[in-house]
Amino acid sequence: MFNITAIPALQDNYIWAIHEGKHAAVVDPGEAAPVLEFLNTRGLQLDAILCTHRHADHIGGISELRKVYNVPVYGRRHPNNPHITHDLREGDQLKLEPFGIEFDIIEIPGHLNDHIAYLAPEILFCGDVLFGGGCGRNFEGSPAQLHHSLQRLAQLPDQTRVYCAHEYTAANLRFAMACEPGNSALQQRVTATQHLRAANQITLPSTIALEKATNPFLRCTQPEIIRTLQQRGLTDTAELGVFTAMREWKNHF
Ligand SMILES: [Zn+2]
Repeated sequence: MFNITAIPALQDNYIWAIHEGKHAAVVDPGEAAPVLEFLNTRGLQLDAILCTHRHADHIGGISELRKVYNVPVYGRRHPNNPHITHDLREGDQLKLEPFGIEFDIIEIPGHLNDHIAYLAPEILFCGDVLFGGGCGRNFEGSPAQLHHSLQRLAQLPDQTRVYCAHEYTAANLRFAMACEPGNSALQQRVTATQHLRAANQITLPSTIALEKATNPFLRCTQPEIIRTLQQRGLTDTAELGVFTAMREWKNHF
């Protein structure tokens, strides 16, 4: 059975490495050096690169990695991501032979239009759409698209592990507490996260169950969250109205 290990990169990115025996694949290598060090230290060879989206902190290491390992690069082809060798669309499947893992590709627009996620049983690589306790910024497309993408992810099985691409959990939970201070599951997560970060430990992967219980962006129908936003001037209390106001508030929090 393969392992999944986080390689810290840049300021707060995680490059996820899937590895088994001598083989490895990486997701969203924003930087090459920490990946090469990880591979060399463990005596691994790189077999594949997976991209969720084309932001520089997710693709910046690909050119340098491919000078060492001329491997396939999977993801969505785009003028701003010229590295892709295999274009992936909604409904495609990606089998990584060395690990016996097969991903379903799902399109989750709303951070960028062409953002995709890799889904296997109990495993989700979701880039910058769903974070621990939060969600990505709405750079392209509408809040409705981002909301819809998050709702799709929320419908995955509870035990699905959420491998997102940034260590944003603590900051996200501070915002979550401002939205829903009476949520006891959230309070427990804040404490657990503080302990992990104080020990310089990673807070990921999360799970879909934990996100549904604590992530305000998946909880837009909760009365306490609606009340909080009403106190800030919200009048449209439909789910999308709440989500849109919350995402806007988070941008300035
Ligand atoms: Zn991004």
